[in-house]
Amino acid sequence: MSGKGQGPAIGIDLGTTYSCVAVWRHDRAESIPNDQGNRTTPSYVAFNDIERLIGDAAKNLAARNPTNTVFDAKRLIGRRFSDPLVQSDEKLWPFKLISGPNDKPLIVVKYDDQEKKFAAEEISSMVLTKMKETAEAFLGLTVKDAVITVPAYFNDSQRQATKDAGTIAGLNVLRIVVEPTAAAVAYGLDKMVGFSSTGKKNVLIFDLGGGTFDVSLLTMDNSMIKVKAIAGDTHLGGEDFDNRMVNHCVQEFKRKHKKDISDNPRALTRLRTSCEKAKRNLSSVTETTIGIDCLYDGIDFDCKITCAKFHELNMDLFQKCIEHVEKCLDDAKMDKKRVHDVVLVGGSTRIPKVQQMLQDFFDGKELCKSIHPDEAVASGAAIQAAILSGQANAAVQDIMLCEVTPLSLGVHVQGGSMCVIIPRNTTIPTKMEKIFETCSYKKSSALIQVFEGERARTIDNNLLGKFELTGIPPASRGVRKLVVSFSIDANGILNISTEDQTSGNKNSMTIINDKGRLTTEEIARMLREAEIFKAQDKKHRRRVEAKNALENYVYEIRSKMQNDMNFAVDLTYSDRRKLKVAIEMATLWLESNELASENQFKDKIKEVGSICDPIIARMS
Ligand code: AMP
Repeated sequence: MSGKGQGPAIGIDLGTTYSCVAVWRHDRAESIPNDQGNRTTPSYVAFNDIERLIGDAAKNLAARNPTNTVFDAKRLIGRRFSDPLVQSDEKLWPFKLISGPNDKPLIVVKYDDQEKKFAAEEISSMVLTKMKETAEAFLGLTVKDAVITVPAYFNDSQRQATKDAGTIAGLNVLRIVVEPTAAAVAYGLDKMVGFSSTGKKNVLIFDLGGGTFDVSLLTMDNSMIKVKAIAGDTHLGGEDFDNRMVNHCVQEFKRKHKKDISDNPRALTRLRTSCEKAKRNLSSVTETTIGIDCLYDGIDFDCKITCAKFHELNMDLFQKCIEHVEKCLDDAKMDKKRVHDVVLVGGSTRIPKVQQMLQDFFDGKELCKSIHPDEAVASGAAIQAAILSGQANAAVQDIMLCEVTPLSLGVHVQGGSMCVIIPRNTTIPTKMEKIFETCSYKKSSALIQVFEGERARTIDNNLLGKFELTGIPPASRGVRKLVVSFSIDANGILNISTEDQTSGNKNSMTIINDKGRLTTEEIARMLREAEIFKAQDKKHRRRVEAKNALENYVYEIRSKMQNDMNFAVDLTYSDRRKLKVAIEMATLWLESNELASENQFKDKIKEVGSICDPIIARMS
């Protein structure tokens, strides 16, 4: 390529199964065909005795060379070998995977008669090289700068590893952009003309690709694109639908021929290719046949598969997609009726059942199919690349993207609970504050512990830092008020400040969301665990509520006796004594029963109430 001029910045959608490259030219984003004339290129790399193949050539020959044909590198990138997802995926891959240094997964292939080990970054860099070369051949220029997209749920290490892959491919990665945001940029450009007249629009991007599923809710207002909420699954897409069909066929083969083909990589690869084809067919016909000559031990395989069967095999996965849509809307606190457009992105959104379920969920709303499902993400990345390199025109140059917080941020409060100050999915920059009443009336300092996570108890969340606000004059419970404010700037830097309203004492700290922070893998794990432990969390929350109710009851009566002069004077000696004893006994009980159950706290309230309530009622 030396001797050629410097080309424009490109946008690359580095997909799990297919990749796509686009460039901003002639005032529009153009997706670029590869040497086969296809606008999407399989994210496949194959090795044999003489050469390395990338893209269509590698995929087309996969069945003949299954153990040396590598795909799905995106599922491995930035992950550890021991990751349960890697472990479960490994069973379906015909190529060999081993654990390298630091638990890093390494792909083992035979290349040029030698055993070679590759990290996922290296395989991805080969796919990126292919995309770079595709753009260079098309433009007749050297390409250096690129924007690469990743799924919304990719964590820091997965994003960093993707960036590294770009660097290995000789690219200068201008930015890593989230796929649904890129799709929204492409959609926004498509719709931008009418925007100023129609005002603010809520748009839901439903991106179901080969390996990942992302749903995001955005608001579009003139050239401002704001992400309100994201949800999704890094392990849900067309490949999972293929695998369900592969498993079904393996069972069918066993039933018909009493032979297990699951340990034969060549047979599995051929089966997977046929299943994917059948799945695509089922998007336009109601029945299709999977037919493979000499699949195993010289036996031919023939299997009819209907749409109904395909739906039955995958219904739970389709349903999962709808649940993520619900979750995304819940997070954004938006009723589905307020969504103006539902935009389909990703090859798997061609499945009619998925479209129908989504349309039904939105009460029959027409889905938006105006942008190309396979090319939208790369187009959005190309627009972003043009903006970042100053090559875009005026209409595009002003497009602004806003980010959201991936996890809730809060402080540790009494009872070990997490008190959320900035909820998950809040648009940044942001500033939010809460006023706390101190529970101890003896201490002259307050310890502020800052956590991130979705669990009800801080012990289950991630501690970001702690600091002490000192010099607080002792005051009675409920009187001293601490204002805790959290602000996150556009770079994701969290700044915390506290102020004791009574004394005016202030303190602050800064938390930088750099690499030392929780990885997205941990974020994803926390979210998954949050689902599993939801019931447990609910139980804990109810227990703390019951405890607080008892504490408040006791506090109110004590405070009334001490501070309400009319009340104190009018009480008979016997009633005052009864109240005093009841309150003291309850306080003692609270001190020695910190860990009592919800019902025990409730019973105690009833017990104290049966003594105090009639007296209070007589006095009012
Ligand atoms: P993407 O990652 O967006 O390129 O999507 C690729 C996925 O879309 C693969 O799993 C394909 O099998 C799937 N796909 C492409 N076309 C169709 C179709 N007509 N029906 C069902 N799935 C499709």
